[in-house]
Amino acid sequence: MKTVYVDNNATTKVAPEVLEGMLPYFSELYGNPSSMHFFGGQVEKKVNEAREKVADFLGAEPSEIVFTSCGTESDNAAILGTLDSYPEKRHLITTRVEHPAIGNVCSYLGRKGYRITELSVDREGRLDPDELKELIKDETVLVSIMYANNETGVIFPIEEIGEIVKAKGIPFHTDAVQAAGKIPLNMRKSTLDMLSISGHKLHAPKGIGVLYIRKGTKFSPFMIGGHQEKGRRGGTENVPYIIGIGKACELAKKHLGEENTRVQVLRDYLEKKILESIPNAMVNGDRVHRLPNTLNISFEYVEGESILLLLSDLGICASSGSACTSGSLEPSHVLRAMGVPFTAAHGSIRFSLSIYNTKEEMDYIVERLPPIIQRLRDISPFWKDYLKSYKKK
Ligand code: PLP
Repeated sequence: MKTVYVDNNATTKVAPEVLEGMLPYFSELYGNPSSMHFFGGQVEKKVNEAREKVADFLGAEPSEIVFTSCGTESDNAAILGTLDSYPEKRHLITTRVEHPAIGNVCSYLGRKGYRITELSVDREGRLDPDELKELIKDETVLVSIMYANNETGVIFPIEEIGEIVKAKGIPFHTDAVQAAGKIPLNMRKSTLDMLSISGHKLHAPKGIGVLYIRKGTKFSPFMIGGHQEKGRRGGTENVPYIIGIGKACELAKKHLGEENTRVQVLRDYLEKKILESIPNAMVNGDRVHRLPNTLNISFEYVEGESILLLLSDLGICASSGSACTSGSLEPSHVLRAMGVPFTAAHGSIRFSLSIYNTKEEMDYIVERLPPIIQRLRDISPFWKDYLKSYKKK
């Protein structure tokens, strides 16, 4: 069966160049980078080269790059490592639409007695930076706001928000797991103190992440152990994966232009064709400030899970809400925060593309989706009620 993979916000294919670069570090070059001998030393050199590539991709200094095990660890470390540095402060500001890697850490901290303030979003999934001005208090320890939303692709005005946060002298972190590789990031021109990324969202393997920590930022290690990563993250370095994320960042820098043009053209084509061929379909999220690869679309009066399964039967891999939250029957917390009506939130599907997708694949989806929606609507009591009320009007 043909496979059309359009779930790249969940995870991406490891680029062949990335895999090739990693392989020697499992077999021939297996030394420990901390070892004094030449065998470890040659690996340490390669780890540092990978660090330079990541730094170059982020517009940062190599010394500001800390390798972690995933995006979730980077997010946890940013929050918990900051709290530990300012034990007297007990207020955090975040948003209602974060990934659980931030959202659930904040809920946990709420249970531990921290005060958590969540910024709301409007119907288009946008934040109002002005809302933040009144919320920052003397006891605020950290502001953590995602760069771009994993479900809708909506990009937040991080630098505008950063101006407000930095004017108050508060540490500022972003979860840029979905932004990295899709839109340019430049820490030299940024107000951010910390930024999280994850390898498997940008064609490196699962199980490797990066936390950027601006020089001079107060930070206590979350993973306590050896002196690795200049004492900021204990644990013997995951060398093959570090080499992999280094290569992936090098490729991502090269492909940024393509992400912004060819991938966006494909996404826009898919969106247009779906909207033309399926009634009562609506795009969720600001269509202007949006990641070039992401389309979140609701089909009213049908279940997203049923659409997904029927698509999957035809080899099409998409997602409803985020992969981490599907499996629960609750509509996505992001769409709920945006006030998407219940009948539409339940029928939402996320298509997320990568540089490996083609126009033929978009046509494959566009041909197969309308009959699926029709078939589900034919058996949907909500759709029948809607048609009745529509005819009355
Ligand atoms: N943050 C965002 C916005 C994400 O989309 C994800 C993964 O879906 C994560 C964090 C977690 O990254 P990881 O899977 O590397 O832990």
